[in-house]
Amino acid sequence: MLINEPNYSRVKREVAKIIEEFSIRVPPVDPVYISRKLAINVVFAHFKPSMNSISGFYDADENTIFVNHEEYPLRQTFTIAHELGHKILHEDWAKSNDYRVLLREDTHVTTDPKEKEANAFAAQLLVPRDLLDDYWKTLEVEQLSRLFAVSVPVIKNRIAFEYGA
Ligand SMILES: [Zn+2]
Repeated sequence: MLINEPNYSRVKREVAKIIEEFSIRVPPVDPVYISRKLAINVVFAHFKPSMNSISGFYDADENTIFVNHEEYPLRQTFTIAHELGHKILHEDWAKSNDYRVLLREDTHVTTDPKEKEANAFAAQLLVPRDLLDDYWKTLEVEQLSRLFAVSVPVIKNRIAFEYGA
């Protein structure tokens, strides 16, 4: 495997650990609860105008995920799960100058392997494979979106990723 390729098997392992540890059996998954139980602070913050294009970021020194309080709820949820992914997968990088905040307009289009891993971590944590198995054939994507409390694009990505559908 190339060093700059996303390591999705590692993402899958780390997500599985959390799903096991928290006995996640029914949607929706609450990344705020999970983060706080893992002793990571989550702060819904009023960002100053110069920072308002930011959806959220992880501050490794403060061990805190800051999320833009003006962002819409489904995006806040995804952002927290994405930053939790950086915390779990990329702690050293998150402390470095290479770390990048998550922008509000930054939908899931990115070429950076760490961002791809954090997006995959977030999507797989919020829409666990075992739970998606239970529902994806019987519910419409809009219903799945409500059930899992993620956006329709996240649901579509998960279905494409897991089943190639
Ligand atoms: Zn990121």
